[in-house]
Parts: sequence; C-alpha cells; structure tokens
Amino acid sequence: MSNTLYDVIVIGGGPSGMMAAGTAAKRGKRVLLVEKNKVLGKKLSITGGGRCNILNAEEDIHKLLSNYEDAAKFLYSAFSQHGMKDSREFFESRGLPIVVEARKRAFPETQLASDVTKVMEKYIKENNVELKLKTKAQEILLEDGKIVGIATNNGNFLAKKIVLATGGASYQETGSTGEGLGWLSDLGHTVHKPSPDIVPLMVKDEWVKNASGKTLSFMKITFASNRTKEGGRFSKTGKILFTHFGLSGPLILNSAREVSRMLKFGPVEATIDMYPDTDIGTLRNRVLEVFNINKNKELRNVLKEFVPAGMSEAVASQLDEVLQRTRVNEVTKESRYALVDRIKAMPLTINGTMGMDWAVISDGGVDLTEVDTKTMQSKIFDNLYFTGDVLHINRPSGGYSLQLCWTTGWVVGSNI
Ligand SMILES: Cc1cc2nc3c(=O)[nH]c(=O)nc-3n(C[C@H](O)[C@H](O)[C@H](O)COP(=O)(O)OP(=O)(O)OC[C@H]3O[C@@H](n4cnc5c(N)ncnc54)[C@H](O)[C@@H]3O)c2cc1C
Repeated sequence: MSNTLYDVIVIGGGPSGMMAAGTAAKRGKRVLLVEKNKVLGKKLSITGGGRCNILNAEEDIHKLLSNYEDAAKFLYSAFSQHGMKDSREFFESRGLPIVVEARKRAFPETQLASDVTKVMEKYIKENNVELKLKTKAQEILLEDGKIVGIATNNGNFLAKKIVLATGGASYQETGSTGEGLGWLSDLGHTVHKPSPDIVPLMVKDEWVKNASGKTLSFMKITFASNRTKEGGRFSKTGKILFTHFGLSGPLILNSAREVSRMLKFGPVEATIDMYPDTDIGTLRNRVLEVFNINKNKELRNVLKEFVPAGMSEAVASQLDEVLQRTRVNEVTKESRYALVDRIKAMPLTINGTMGMDWAVISDGGVDLTEVDTKTMQSKIFDNLYFTGDVLHINRPSGGYSLQLCWTTGWVVGSNI
C-alpha cells in the first residue's frame, strides 16, 4: 500500500478521465490517474474512423442539449459551466484548430484522433498528474461505509475523492469493459444495464450482403415490427452503407436503439425505398420510358438505367430468373408495376445488432437521479464523482459523446 494520500484518484484514462484529472490538478490538487492499458485514450484515438468527431458545433445550448434526450435538463448546469465553445477554445488554445463539417460535426483540422489524445496527454503532464499505466483498479475500498481508495494489481492507493471514469461497455478491446458499473451496483447505486447503442445491424438477406461496400446517399428505410404492443413502425431517410453482415452508416447507427427495442420481440422487417422523393406514378413513367427505348433488351440489362448506381444486381435478385431474361417489350404491365413496387420497398429482415464489440457507445450507466447536476458528485457517497460514458445518458452520433466527456470531465475537475 502506498502511504500517499491523494486528493483525487481518477480511474480510467479515457477522454473524460484525462479532462477531470488535468483540470483538478491545475487547481493544485494532488491527482493520481490509473489506466489499465499501457496507453491513454485507446478508444479516443480510434474515434470518428481515426479522424475524431471531437464535438458538435451547435451554438444554441438548448438545441445542443436536446440531443441528450431525457438528460437535457440534467446537463444544463454542467454545459453552462463548460459548453461547446469552451471545449473548442480548450483545444484551439492548445494548438489544435477545429474545422466544422456537415451537421455541425467538428473535427481537428489535422483529421487525426491521435492529435486529440496528444493534447489531453500534454494537459495532464503539464499539470503534474501522477500517472500509473498498466494499473487495473480491482475494487473500491471502503472503511466504515466511506470510500477511502482503490485496490489495483499494483497495490492499494488512498484518496480523499474518487472519480469513476471507466467508460461504458462497448468496443471492449479498448479497455471499456464495464467493471466500473459493477462496482457502482455493489455500492448501492442504481445502474442501468448497458446494451449496445449506435451499432450496425445484422441482416438475413443475401441481396444486402452482396451489395457490401456500396453506399447510397439518399434512401428511406422503414422498420416495422408487428410484435410490439404499439405495432412499432418508424422511418428514416439518409445515407445507408451496405456491409458483408448487413447495414451501417450514420442513419442506421442512429436507428439502432429503437430497432434494438423492436428486436426484443423477434426479427424486425424493414423495407428500403430507393427513391423516397419520387412517387410511384412518376417512377412507373420513368421505367416505361426506359422500356420504350430498349424494347429488345433483356430486363436484367436495362435495370441500371433506372435503379440507383450499383443496385441493379440487388434489384435483379428480387426477380425470378425468367423475368430477368425476358425482353422488355414482353414484360407485362403487372410485372412492370411489381418491379416499381420493389424499388420503392426492397424487403429485408434484421435479425440482430452487431453487439458490444461494434457499438460506438453502450446505452446504460448510473441513474441520473443519484448524481448532483452541478458537480457530477454521487448523492450516495459524497467523495465519489462520475464522468463520460459511466453516466446513463443517451445521444446520437455526431460529436455529442465526446462533448459529454469534455463537459463532465471539466465540471468534475473544477468542483472536486
Ligand atoms: C469506434 C468508435 C468511434 C467513436 N467515435 C466517436 C466520435 O467520433 N465522436 C464522439 O463524440 N464519440 C465517439 N465515440 C464514443 C466515445 O469514444 C466515447 O463516448 C468516449 O470514449 C467515452 O469516454 P470515457 O472517458 O467516458 O470512457 P472511455 O473512453 O471508455 O475510457 C475509459 C477508460 O477507462 C479504462 N478502464 C476501465 N476499467 C478500468 C479499470 N478497472 N482500471 C483502470 N482503468 C480502467 C479503460 O481502459 C479506458 O481507457 C466512438 C466510440 C467508438 C467505439
């Protein structure tokens, strides 16, 4: 056991833990940061496909907070202390200019997530945070019902205050294995069980898998489950990415939570409308025009004239062999109409999500009614604090997760 009594021990060297540790140390606190990996910010360094969608540059605090759904009110005080502009200023003043792309998603100008990790590493170093890598917290130590420190594979460490920044339970190879949430349950906190969120979907149908690698920028997908009590059904329009296992891309990732709920009742039927902005009548006319120009060609050879680029094989797979080879001037009106119906509603069955290993975040964490809104302090243990993915806060992709880390990390570091 180390004899040092730290002011603060932060468990977890992800973005929120580094922000909390550096900010507390900057105020003169003696801070120990323990991280079980041999590097800091393993997950941070792969965010945004290696580019790091560092924050969402929405300036209107109410609009920004609405993305955190039920937690919007809970987060108001924290975001008033350290909001989007403060995070932006934090990074830009440390030599990391930020550029804003579509949907206000902000990235470092260098397009390198590892540069964000470097800024955070420098922040903790220049403020003299004591860092112990390859140090896995195994238990939170209690004495007379009060938290006094942590037990690790490198011995026990004592502190006046503990910050739990161990993350959620997604992409476990990065170190976020969810044990922090287990300790919280043991300590008497209410913890919502983590389930995969912002996660790709697994699809049964071969036509989807055969389209692997294709991205279609404007499609409407409708998910339907007649097994839910509400007869659940919803649609979203945007970019869909076809993969060897099913579907991905922002539209799908941000539909995953609702689809997961539907999946509890069995496979979810979906349809893809390849021309959401074109009504059936207009599409029928377009197909007829193509047929008139290509009278003697086989149907399978003219599909590419009126289906989105790269999707003619997928559509062909929905037609029987004989029809595929029929010359278009012999295709009946019924078959032509049925073909248009298919293009407006390509059927597929979703039989699962890709699970925790593929999930950007996990939906779960400590119940917010047990956390102080101004300080992120536990209402059960007055020397325990929470940051980032440990909190039960849902949000879509778009930089909102890392913004949550910068804000909660800063608020904890400033108030602890
Ligand atoms: C592939 C991918 C891409 C993403 N892209 C984006 C993006 O572009 N923009 C965005 O906003 N969000 C993105 N996210 C989400 C974002 O990365 C997370 O929300 C964020 O990393 C959470 O930070 P955190 O500090 O709460 O926890 P984590 O980053 O999970 O860090 C927790 C740390 O605690 C350590 N730890 C856990 N248990 C222990 C223990 N017992 N002892 C010691 N250390 C421990 C872990 O090793 C880990 O380093 C992405 C996530 C993934 C998986």
